[in-house]
Amino acid sequence: MNKKTLHPESLMMSYGYNPEWSEGAIKCPIFQTSTFVFKTAEEGKAFFEVAYGIREQRPNEKMGLIYSRINNPDLEILENRLTLWDGAEDCAVFESGMSAVSTVLLEFLKPGDTILYSSPLYGGTEHFLQHVLTQFGINIIRFKTGHSRNEIIDIVNKSEHAHTLKMIYIETPANPTNDLIDISCCKAIADHFSKKTKPVYLAVDNTYFGPLWQHPLKHGADIVIYSATKYIGGHSDVIAGAVLGSSAIIKRIKTLRTFLGNMAGPWTGWLLLRSLETLKPRMETQARNARHVAEFLINHPKIERVNYLGFLDETNPVQYDIFKKQCLSGGAMLSFDVVGSEKEAFTFLNNLKLIKLAVSLGSTESLAEHPSTMTHVDLDPDEKIELNITEKLIRLSVGVEHYEDLIADISQALECIIVEEMELA
Ligand SMILES: *Cc1c(COP(=O)(O)O)cnc(C)c1O
Repeated sequence: MNKKTLHPESLMMSYGYNPEWSEGAIKCPIFQTSTFVFKTAEEGKAFFEVAYGIREQRPNEKMGLIYSRINNPDLEILENRLTLWDGAEDCAVFESGMSAVSTVLLEFLKPGDTILYSSPLYGGTEHFLQHVLTQFGINIIRFKTGHSRNEIIDIVNKSEHAHTLKMIYIETPANPTNDLIDISCCKAIADHFSKKTKPVYLAVDNTYFGPLWQHPLKHGADIVIYSATKYIGGHSDVIAGAVLGSSAIIKRIKTLRTFLGNMAGPWTGWLLLRSLETLKPRMETQARNARHVAEFLINHPKIERVNYLGFLDETNPVQYDIFKKQCLSGGAMLSFDVVGSEKEAFTFLNNLKLIKLAVSLGSTESLAEHPSTMTHVDLDPDEKIELNITEKLIRLSVGVEHYEDLIADISQALECIIVEEMELA
């Protein structure tokens, strides 16, 4: 059987690992080691020449392991398996999503360069752009979901930084409202501002849709970033990140990773290998549950509005077209407005019993939070209004529990809102 023709889920238990390397162990052990023994001094010299770019790897030359900051079997096997979902040439894993994000930005942006990004981004990413990169003389320009291709090009031209634009960075679906950004349209904008001597790279943070439901490289992205803490890890027990792209791009990112020293450790790598074996069944169950929950919410008298991608249709042609083009599922992230305000939203959150009140997403357990005062507290009030991040908005990451139990929990927590209002009256 040709491994290339198998589905990724069939390869998650075995790809890139040979039991003969480890006494026949069916699972890749944790290579809890800092350094690796060379067979000869000549071999050590050859490994360093390639690792430090002194010469190119020769055809048929086998690279060996040197030191766990440069690489480690748990990370190499994990990186090889992660490439299968996105159809990427290579991957680099990190000890957090933020180290994946910051390493990409530091590698591709130099003083005087400009980055264009979609707003809102993950809070940590936006902070890094606004408060760290600007200290190094990097210009930032923002656009909003809903802006057309020509409007975005206009924003760049009016900024007077068009000639230094180096990267477009987007997150789609946007957190927490599920607004979609057209990846291939962003690629066309990147091409519009690219010159032979100055390519404009398109980076997509694909955390919200995991590696199953959207494949940005297939729509023209150069770089895909994940917080592997979310769907890839999927059990709320590990912090990690990943970057995927062409061999040339990942080589640059891995080189900077070696010198920043922010690679994932072997234990993190091993945990993610274990998580990947169930990635598809977990995410499929989560998406199925999310549809049931969304259908319950949309008909509930205490719910004013539901943001769920599975409900998109011809009544919203722009978003629906993007959805059909680049999304393979409605996903498992929902947000909704309860009737009332912050008080009612808090009553709902405080009365959930099965669903946990916590930030983060993509895990086996369902998580609910209040974006306005938690994940998105940093946004100014005007921006919150513009983005529909209201005081009554709840974000829900749907897990793998039985959907009837999730609906029962949501239902009883919504009942509590009524009880409180009656007590007040
Ligand atoms: C969580 C998250 C990050 C940051 O990842 P960490 O693993 O927490 O460092 C980046 N982007 C998005 C969209 C996220 O949800």
